[in-house]
Amino acid sequence: MLDEIINLDKKYYMNTFGDRLPVCFVRGEGIKLFSDNGKEYYDFLGGIAVNALGHNHPKFIAALKNQLDKVLHTSSLYYIENQAKLAQKIAENTFADKVFFCNSGAEANEGAFKLAKIYFYKKGIDKYEIITLDKSFHGRTLATVAATGQEKYQKPYRPLTPGFIQVEPNNYQAVENAVTDKTAAIMIELIQGESGVHPMDLEYVRKLRQLCDEKDILLIFDEVQTGMGRTGKLFAHQLYGINPDIFTAAKALGGGIPIGAVCASDKIASAFTPGDHGTTFGGNPFSTAAGLAVFDIFENEGLVEHAGKMGDIFKDKLTDLQKKYGDKICEIRSAGLLIGIELKTKIAKDVFNKLFDNGILTSLCGGNTIRIAPPLIITENDIDLFVTNLDDILGRI
Ligand SMILES: *Cc1c(COP(=O)(O)O)cnc(C)c1O
Repeated sequence: MLDEIINLDKKYYMNTFGDRLPVCFVRGEGIKLFSDNGKEYYDFLGGIAVNALGHNHPKFIAALKNQLDKVLHTSSLYYIENQAKLAQKIAENTFADKVFFCNSGAEANEGAFKLAKIYFYKKGIDKYEIITLDKSFHGRTLATVAATGQEKYQKPYRPLTPGFIQVEPNNYQAVENAVTDKTAAIMIELIQGESGVHPMDLEYVRKLRQLCDEKDILLIFDEVQTGMGRTGKLFAHQLYGINPDIFTAAKALGGGIPIGAVCASDKIASAFTPGDHGTTFGGNPFSTAAGLAVFDIFENEGLVEHAGKMGDIFKDKLTDLQKKYGDKICEIRSAGLLIGIELKTKIAKDVFNKLFDNGILTSLCGGNTIRIAPPLIITENDIDLFVTNLDDILGRI
């Protein structure tokens, strides 16, 4: 069956993903996924930080089925109960006062750029430049590609959307030098996910906040990957104790159902007035039912706190492994359950493949870093299973 699917994919699907890992999953249960040939896998990537509740969470699925039986989509022409209630959830749990829903991380970031630009436009101030960081990842649309500080994503699409400037991460001076009287916003990931789990220093972020306050610049945090409990706090800015002006969310927000969010204080959000922004699908009754169920289950099961605890345990165990294999593991970087294990470049691919052969799903990013972003429901036994496997692989490589 897998061969047949691969053939269809090669014949009919645009080749943007190349040769994928040779597996097709047909069922999931908790942290486990099952392939079409019945092999069991442990999902330590969680659909790239999406499946916070794991797979087939009974209460989550029941909430989705319940909504399926009522109504799926109505359009933004009408009031939507779940949409209003999910916005309330986010507002009540963060500094944000207002929320706008869309369908993906890139689209949420597009919304944030538009909000930053219109905020100054409506004040009659001519500011439009947006500073972002090298090695960042903000999405695949044209504006988010211009914001993404990685040559490989930008190169084929020049000329890029103008106004985006990239500087070196964790280098305050570089940002200060790049600021002009046209700078509207600075957008960062507090922990760069896609390029290998690189956290920003607290002092650096503090200084950015100060700089933005002094120069009337909006600070935007892209929390598409770090949001929704991933770091042991609902949002990573709560881990840092620093509020941006706008933040975006997506990946885990719908627990696997596509949804994104732009979140801001009233002062900023009020720049959007009727007709300035919109969406067909964003925040429809189904995706917002998913978001509400995620919040509900987070609260009932104490999952955000659990993620923090499991993250600490995971980090301790990996740090022990690093002591044992100092010649193979370069660095462990993490925040809660977003963890990067940087390996010596020559073994990284091999370790990644061997983990996969052992039925352990991770991703290889930044060339030599194993990224893990497991479901937040992970247990200490699951962590032990991962560590034992990695220990075994490193011992033999
Ligand atoms: C995944 C990701 C995006 C893009 O999200 P899509 O839903 O794929 O558009 C943007 N920013 C960050 C930090 C991400 O991790």
